[in-house]
Amino acid sequence: MKTTKYLSYVVGELPEGCRLCMKGMKLVYFATGLCGRSCFYCPLSKERKGKDVVYADEVPVKDLEDVLAEAKAIDARGVGVTGGDPMLRVGRVVEVLKALREVLPRKLHVHLYATTQPHVNEPSLGKLLDAGVDELRFHPNLEVVDELLPLKLAVDMGFEAGLEVPAIPGFEDKICKTIERAEKLGASFVVINELEMTESNALALQIRGFKLKAGTVSAVQGSWETAMTLLRFVEELGLSGHFCPAYIKDSAQFRNRLRRKARSIAMPHEVVTRDPLLVKGIIEPPQGSSLEEALRRVKSIAPELYIYVNTSKNRLECNYKELKKLSEKLKGAGFRLSIVGELPTSFREQVMLKPL
Ligand code: SF4
Repeated sequence: MKTTKYLSYVVGELPEGCRLCMKGMKLVYFATGLCGRSCFYCPLSKERKGKDVVYADEVPVKDLEDVLAEAKAIDARGVGVTGGDPMLRVGRVVEVLKALREVLPRKLHVHLYATTQPHVNEPSLGKLLDAGVDELRFHPNLEVVDELLPLKLAVDMGFEAGLEVPAIPGFEDKICKTIERAEKLGASFVVINELEMTESNALALQIRGFKLKAGTVSAVQGSWETAMTLLRFVEELGLSGHFCPAYIKDSAQFRNRLRRKARSIAMPHEVVTRDPLLVKGIIEPPQGSSLEEALRRVKSIAPELYIYVNTSKNRLECNYKELKKLSEKLKGAGFRLSIVGELPTSFREQVMLKPL
């Protein structure tokens, strides 16, 4: 068993989909919140669960352009298609993949999460094969004996196919038997996720006696140990396996993706920090003074300073280090100065404010 640099655990080879995902190089395309199953541990939020909504990473999608803009913003090298059950919207998935391949210059690695329900069949899988999906991750039904027929079909059709399972304490036997069946059908990997307690599944988990692990925001107590048991079993079978702890989603995937997005959307006066935040200096006009007057005034004090006029927020913006150097002069002229940090999301939420 090896540890990755993001502190996840691997046996055999790390699946390609996981490698790119942890580096934040994958666009997460949420194809629909619809799903024919109702797993008690389903972590989908109430905004997504059971609703035919689409997201590209955290961005709500109205049309194809939203997906393409997000993919370009993070300079995506691949796509993870998820849901709900994306196989209920195969046409939508195929259309998006085609459009992404047209606008992104490099080869895209695509993995897709699928259930093992009857609509995951030869015609629907055939469409994915034509659309260039590389890897299929089947989420078995853990409450019955799942024959995993779509997985067998996918292997026969030439997909790289495996399982993706939550590490549910008390389900070790069931999951190991499912992994054993998958191995016999030709699966090449198993991805194990730490079970997470979210707002939407907390009640269902608590009724069954599950508790939040001390010191964490979402990991379920005992899930880590279950994951390790499953990963050892995967190793004994000679399959590749990856245990993705809950903290990876924040510490690796999400942050790395934001970092890539920050670098691509940063304006010339914005500095990208490790967090990642877009940090910049803010100059607010004195009371009663218009933005145009303020701009003229600042230019007369610092003619070389690059200034961005943010009309929607009625302020001038510049490099924060330059602003620090000029702070005495500008404050003396009545300007209010600060340094702000914004998240590199579509809404650019302000999360840091330091008055100068
Ligand atoms: S298959 Fe996935 S999306 Fe569907 S209910 Fe289960 S956990 Fe939720």
